[in-house]
Amino acid sequence: MEYTGNNLSVSRLVFHNFRNAELERRLRLTSPQEGDVCAYCGNKFDFMVPMKQLELSRYTDWHLHQARTSVLFCLPCATILRTDDFRRKAVVADSKTVRFLTMAEPSDREALIQSLFYTPPDPLFAISIPSDYRKHIMLRAKLNFVRSQFYVQFGEHAVLLMPDVHRNVYESVKALIQSGASSAQIVRGTSISSIRPSPLLSFLLEITKFDHPSYRKDREG
Ligand SMILES: [Zn+2]
Repeated sequence: MEYTGNNLSVSRLVFHNFRNAELERRLRLTSPQEGDVCAYCGNKFDFMVPMKQLELSRYTDWHLHQARTSVLFCLPCATILRTDDFRRKAVVADSKTVRFLTMAEPSDREALIQSLFYTPPDPLFAISIPSDYRKHIMLRAKLNFVRSQFYVQFGEHAVLLMPDVHRNVYESVKALIQSGASSAQIVRGTSISSIRPSPLLSFLLEITKFDHPSYRKDREG
């Protein structure tokens, strides 16, 4: 599949490697009529999902829609919106795979850290990391075209990461956390003064919180 021009979207990238067969069995899919586009991404797709089939009473992302008057989602966007793992787990999607990673799992966390700071995926790719499991953030993630600087969707924030610059900052925050410093102390402190307080620092504190001695003690105890 080619990602060119007007069909470029995170949901297409994901859908190329991830299908929710159970969801697709439940949905009634329609073929797009002339002028039909997805409300969320604004693209046309071979399979569209009329919104009225979906329970949307708690859905709050109407303001992010590209096509405000459309009453359809494309199947790729509907798949992300209706598959819980996209909300609950960190997601690393590139042109070959979609990986779901659980932050509290050491091996998953290590894989995520590698993707962020050491060996980012080959473009095109998109990464989302939840800060609140109720929100649909994967569809907000930006498509990244280069590995030297890219966006990570962290909760509602798009955090710009430059691995060559931020690797050291990550390692500094991690060392402070491992030595027993609290998040509040780090936010107030001067040791990471170049980035405090910011979405980037919040993000670094989220991914290092598991390294704190009290977290590890809780798990062992
Ligand atoms: Zn769409």
